[in-house]
Amino acid sequence: MSRVYNFSAGPAVLPEEVLLEAASEMMDYRGTGMSVMEMSHRSKAFEGILNEAEQDLRDLMGIPDNYKVLFLQGGAHLQFAMIPMNLMKNRVADYIVTGQWAKKAYNEAAIYGKANKIATSEDETFSYIPDCSDLPVSPEADYVYICENNTIYGTKFHTLPNTKGKILVSDVSSCFLSEPVDVTKYGLIYGGVQKNIGPAGMVIAVIREDLITEDTLPGTPTYMKYKIHADANSLYNTPNAYCIYMCGKVFKWLKKMGGLEVMKERNEKKAALLYEFLDESRLFRGTVRKADRSLMNVPFVTGSKELDADFVKAATEAGLVNLKGHRSVGGMRASIYNAMPLEGVKALVEFMKKFEEEHHV
Ligand SMILES: *Cc1c(COP(=O)(O)O)cnc(C)c1O
Repeated sequence: MSRVYNFSAGPAVLPEEVLLEAASEMMDYRGTGMSVMEMSHRSKAFEGILNEAEQDLRDLMGIPDNYKVLFLQGGAHLQFAMIPMNLMKNRVADYIVTGQWAKKAYNEAAIYGKANKIATSEDETFSYIPDCSDLPVSPEADYVYICENNTIYGTKFHTLPNTKGKILVSDVSSCFLSEPVDVTKYGLIYGGVQKNIGPAGMVIAVIREDLITEDTLPGTPTYMKYKIHADANSLYNTPNAYCIYMCGKVFKWLKKMGGLEVMKERNEKKAALLYEFLDESRLFRGTVRKADRSLMNVPFVTGSKELDADFVKAATEAGLVNLKGHRSVGGMRASIYNAMPLEGVKALVEFMKKFEEEHHV
């Protein structure tokens, strides 16, 4: 077996312990004589998997009782529509546009009502988070929307926006479970799990109960109503059962690691190693305003497209893979999610040092 260090932004690296455990249960899940992939989603065994996954997530995030946890399909993209369909009661919502994912959510919301772009960092290719302490929040806005960690650009909201009393909706796809979170500050937190939690094919939405109502926009398909999924405990239709099982294993792994406080310390240590190198490097540099740097996605460049390409190629040959930046921004990006061990980041920094020595003129 030969494993690489996988710096992909998503689908992304998973904890080896989790993969090995899943492999050991592939043919016979705990005496059922079948794989979880072959199991009815209404079986006792699966009910146990689902309920434990939810409880472990609640423990990890400290989710209060008045929030529901929903396991949904359709990726973050479906949420871009589901959010306005369910929450845009006045047909007005404010969006803070800090990258392509926020922009896509904003454009989607504009289909259903008046979406206001109340702040953006597009003027500097989304390399920073705008000051959100005193924004022109619309009096009739149903919610304020952010993308908390901008996967493509490597920025993170280290302070949540002042929503002036409005409900905060946050896409946490690429920082989910990377550090402790105060759930009570949000009306809805959601994210695709394929970045920092599990395999592709699912979104987890943590939503305050009073926001789950029958009162959705006219024409909202049944399947797009949060209430349908909440009332059915995420079993309205066949869920992505195997993904729930894998995420459940990751939750147990996170608990065993010591929970989100410990993960935050680990993630800070990993990110510091890389950022400190970038700040001192004569060849590489980070592309994000320091105060807004993400712990999860670290973009960097050499300043030469040719050299960037050479670096990505050489790194791949050395077993450091998926370092190419997003197709819209170029350069490099190292995604160093929870499951990326410190050794992986050390190996990357060592490789960058060596590359710098060989190429610096
Ligand atoms: C990847 C990503 C998305 C898109 O997720 P899909 O599951 O592919 O729809 C949305 N938001 C953020 C922050 C992401 O990183």
